[in-house]
Amino acid sequence: MIEPISLTDLGTKRAEELLAWAWNTHGARAAIVTSFQNTGCVMIDMAHRVAPKLRVITIDTLRLHPETYELMEAVETRYGIRVERFTPDPAALSWMVQSAGEYLFFDGREKQEFCCRVRKVEPTERALATVDVWITGLRQDQSAFRKATLKAANAVKSGRTVLKLCPLVDWSEDEVNGYMAANNVPRNALYERGYTSIGCVICSTPTLPGEDKRAGRWRWFNQLHQHDSKECGIHLDGSGI
Ligand code: SF4
Repeated sequence: MIEPISLTDLGTKRAEELLAWAWNTHGARAAIVTSFQNTGCVMIDMAHRVAPKLRVITIDTLRLHPETYELMEAVETRYGIRVERFTPDPAALSWMVQSAGEYLFFDGREKQEFCCRVRKVEPTERALATVDVWITGLRQDQSAFRKATLKAANAVKSGRTVLKLCPLVDWSEDEVNGYMAANNVPRNALYERGYTSIGCVICSTPTLPGEDKRAGRWRWFNQLHQHDSKECGIHLDGSGI
C-alpha cells in the first residue's frame, strides 16, 4: 500500500530523497530514464547509494555518439548495473530509412520529427509503459522552454498518467559539475569538446559560450525557426512540463 503524497510534498524533497522514495514506494515500476548526459549520471551515482536496484533505462536511437556508448559501458562497470536499452522498432526503422533515407532530418522539420518519432519517441513510450514513476534529469536552466519544469508532476503518456520526477530540476550547472567532481562521476567526453546537450550524431553539435544549452540541436533549422523549442517530442506531454 503506497502512502499518498502530494506533488507539492514531493517537490520539497531533495534529489536523493526522491530517488529513495521512488524505489521504496514503486520498486521496479520506477526508473531513471537517461540519455547519459551529466544529470543522468549524477542520479545514477546517487541511486547507487540510496536505491541501488532502481532501474536505469536509456533510449538507444542507434545513432548516438560513440562517446555515449562508451560512457554507458563505463557506467555499467562502475556501478555494477545493467542499463536497459530501448531501441527503435526494426520494421518501422527499416521502412523509414528505405522510404526517406538515413538523413531525412535535413529535409525539413516534419521529417526530423518523423525520425525522432521512430527513433526516440516510440521507444520512449514503450519504455514508459513499464513504469509508473518516470525519473528524468531535466533542469530548468537548460533552455527557455524548460524554465517551467517542475520537480514532480503528472504527465500523460499514451493516454496513461505517470508521475514524472525531475530530482535535479533546480540545480545549476555548477552544482552538477561540483557533484560530479566531488564524487568522480563518469561523464561524456563530448562535454570537453564544447557540447552542452548530447543526443544523436549530426543532430547535436557543440555550442558557443552564451548560447542556450540546447542551441546545438538541429543547427540547420536555426535560421528558419527563430522560436523553435529544440525538443524532440519526448517532453511535450501536455503535463505543463
Ligand atoms: Fe533522428 Fe536526429 Fe531525432 Fe536522432 S535527433 S532521432 S537522428 S532526427
